[in-house]
Amino acid sequence: MKNQARVVVIGGGVVGVSTLYHLTKKGWTDVTLLERTELTAGSTWHAAGLLPLFNMSYTVGQLHKYSVDLYKRLPAETGQEVGFHVTGNLRLATCRDRMDEYLKYCGTANTIGVPFRVISPDEVKALWPLVNLGDGVGTPKIVGALYHPDDGHIAPVDLTMALRKGARAAGAEICEQTEVLGVERVRSGEWKIRTSQGDIVCEHVVCATGNYARATGRMFGLDVPAIPVEHQYIVYDEAPELKAYRAGGGRELAVLRESDASYYLREERMGWILGPYEKGAPARFADGVPATFGKELFAGDLERMLPHVEAAMKRVPCLEHCGIKTIVNGPISYTPDGGPLIGPAWGLRNVWLNEGHSFGVTAAGGAGWQLAEWIVEGEPGIDMLGVDPRRFGAYAGKRYTVAKNEETYRNVFTIHYPDEERHDARPAKTSPVYDKLDRRGAVWGQRYGWERANWFAPAGVERRDVWSFRRSNYFAHVGNECRLMRGKVGVIDLTPFTKHEVSGLGAEAWLDSLVANKVPASTGRIALCHALTKKGGIRSEFTITKLGPDHYYLVSAGAAERYDGDYLQKMLPADGSVALRNVTTGRGTFVVAGPKARDVLARLTDTALDNASFPWLTGQVIAVGLAVDVYALRVNFIGELGWELHFPIEYANGLFDALFAAGEEFGIGMVGMRAMESLRIEKSYRMWGSDLTPDYTPFEAGLDRFVRMNKGDFIGRAALERQLAAGIPHRFVTLEVHGVTDADPLGNEPLFAGGALAGRATAGYYGHVLGKSLALAYVDAAHAALGTALEIEILGERRKATVLRESPYDPENARLRA
Ligand SMILES: Cc1cc2nc3c(=O)[nH]c(=O)nc-3n(C[C@H](O)[C@H](O)[C@H](O)COP(=O)(O)OP(=O)(O)OC[C@H]3O[C@@H](n4cnc5c(N)ncnc54)[C@H](O)[C@@H]3O)c2cc1C
Repeated sequence: MKNQARVVVIGGGVVGVSTLYHLTKKGWTDVTLLERTELTAGSTWHAAGLLPLFNMSYTVGQLHKYSVDLYKRLPAETGQEVGFHVTGNLRLATCRDRMDEYLKYCGTANTIGVPFRVISPDEVKALWPLVNLGDGVGTPKIVGALYHPDDGHIAPVDLTMALRKGARAAGAEICEQTEVLGVERVRSGEWKIRTSQGDIVCEHVVCATGNYARATGRMFGLDVPAIPVEHQYIVYDEAPELKAYRAGGGRELAVLRESDASYYLREERMGWILGPYEKGAPARFADGVPATFGKELFAGDLERMLPHVEAAMKRVPCLEHCGIKTIVNGPISYTPDGGPLIGPAWGLRNVWLNEGHSFGVTAAGGAGWQLAEWIVEGEPGIDMLGVDPRRFGAYAGKRYTVAKNEETYRNVFTIHYPDEERHDARPAKTSPVYDKLDRRGAVWGQRYGWERANWFAPAGVERRDVWSFRRSNYFAHVGNECRLMRGKVGVIDLTPFTKHEVSGLGAEAWLDSLVANKVPASTGRIALCHALTKKGGIRSEFTITKLGPDHYYLVSAGAAERYDGDYLQKMLPADGSVALRNVTTGRGTFVVAGPKARDVLARLTDTALDNASFPWLTGQVIAVGLAVDVYALRVNFIGELGWELHFPIEYANGLFDALFAAGEEFGIGMVGMRAMESLRIEKSYRMWGSDLTPDYTPFEAGLDRFVRMNKGDFIGRAALERQLAAGIPHRFVTLEVHGVTDADPLGNEPLFAGGALAGRATAGYYGHVLGKSLALAYVDAAHAALGTALEIEILGERRKATVLRESPYDPENARLRA
């Protein structure tokens, strides 16, 4: 083993080896991989090798697509076969909601270029002659299916060996029987990795340790939210019917997934492999993998699998005649949302995670590709927000992770509704007024560990969501909340907002170097500011208020607390001229907005609230009721006259009661997150994370007025200049979708112009006050003009859509300035 390398990758599973391979592809060949025993000895050796392209996530979908394409190329490139059987993949549906899920996915697939077909029961039978289509009595009837012709299954060990061969050929070093025992930061800023074979010093470290992720994390002081769960599959003996079918010239059958019965089935040596996602599969190794666990498996639990086995025998009757050869039950790494952790570790420089992979064989190619890009270029090439390790915060501790991982595992095959809210490990984080909102009928959702009221069930209405891809039981109630906000006055509890205070002599210059807009120069001014990537994409969005000389208050998305905090922390100047303080849980936030907002607040404060004294886009530190030191910001995300009140958290309950007492005569009421979505889309307000991502620059996002090219340098400026010179390829538009009766756009729908793909929607909702179905989208610049007629595909149906004027509700902002 060398004693110095540019990058050390810890872990020789398929993910670690892929990362090593891709680093060499990027030209970094001074790279070393350390494996405690032998390559693939973790979860990789016993994986079933399925490569499903299907994934509801835009990011993960792209990673999987890259993998499948790469794996097809690898044998020719490396001379090592990978056992890729391109059998295709068939996902059955036995109910309309399942079909809706597939149709929703088709939008994502279309936008990333994954080939698929939605097929009828007869086509299922033609593709898969051994299937029983069901009679709707003993066996559920198949109503349709989603077919991916391009994926199939692979030999995970051979795949790893091909990647190894490619990496080695380019100069990478691979050390087996080399266990990492500890790490230490040396004076130079490099990492010293202590191993069973001696030390090695490196600039960057990648952790790709599968089931050992938490133990590896602990060496760095990280609480990594990746804990394995038991996962099993049955290997069957030969099936005579299958043999006969193949002997008759039948091609290898597509991998079959009966999602509604939660299992997959694929051919294996004229027999089958059947893998269920069962209820009750326990998390394992929450406190670390025991030293005694090597290349072992757990005992199989057939009982747990029985419901799935029985369903499979009805669907594929010839299974009944097959004996069981063996059961494989191994640890499969999971995270609380089921997505992997790919990207920088928080709080540490040059430490990277490629952990938490539950579809690691499928994801390894894409995960290695993008992580290598990130390490070498400083940024990934695609939007990786959905898999960024910093999407979880400190709340994702051991117990939370165990509960969520078990829940995520048993829900792998449940229908993933866009308005789905899972129940386990809740409530974790609550605003102080949680009980008050609960008594007002809150129907709760959860984001970043926080309970948030999605909508409020009026008296007599059941407090329950009926999840759907279409308009559902809460539609009318959300509409009423929207009308309350636009017609009278409403309150939204946005306590989860991420909040930072920045101060010090260097604060202004530092912030100006990070964001594209000019940070506010005078006390009391507010500016919407975007931190960009070096490529000019939108990394973060901050509402920055100047509270006083050299003192700024930064508000960003609630789910970005660790993501933004880590970035700000890492970018701090070394000279100590800037102090950064995370005050997220120190301050609560109520939005008070609507035409009567001023009247309500006037009852509670001596501060003058008229336009001359307190104009739009300004903030003041005021007293409201008994609450003092309240940062009152005249901005909001719904586009009405109103204030965001950011108050010391201890005033939450008193302030809430005071607002409702003062607001009673004006008809004040609570408003939830779903109404906020409708209201913000009526104003074309972009949401960080969906509408604003590193994939698009602020010019593409139509945020030109928040970019000051002449203010001096800032991160991303050079890229913006290049884009200005070359032309802006995409434009952000607001669309009215015509003819919608029950399925509004929700984001990730493809857009077509004259039949050709012309863009993608990033958000959508019914605009209750405008009475229009609306979408926000990026389209090719040629299709962005006002009035352009496009088509949008929603759940498989193409609908006409027209480009509207920006901010179709109150385009002049008269109501905001009222
Ligand atoms: C039964 C089963 C079936 C599966 N089927 C599929 C499938 O069909 N398709 C699919 O995509 N995925 C499947 N998976 C998941 C897949 O196996 C994993 O996602 C994948 O193997 C993860 O690869 P990895 O490289 O992240 O982890 P691993 O393969 O576990 O590799 C991690 C490596 O890190 C090493 N390591 C740990 N700590 C240290 C240390 N301190 N020093 C040095 N080395 C260390 C370990 O020894 C290990 O070799 C399945 C999993 C199971 C259990």
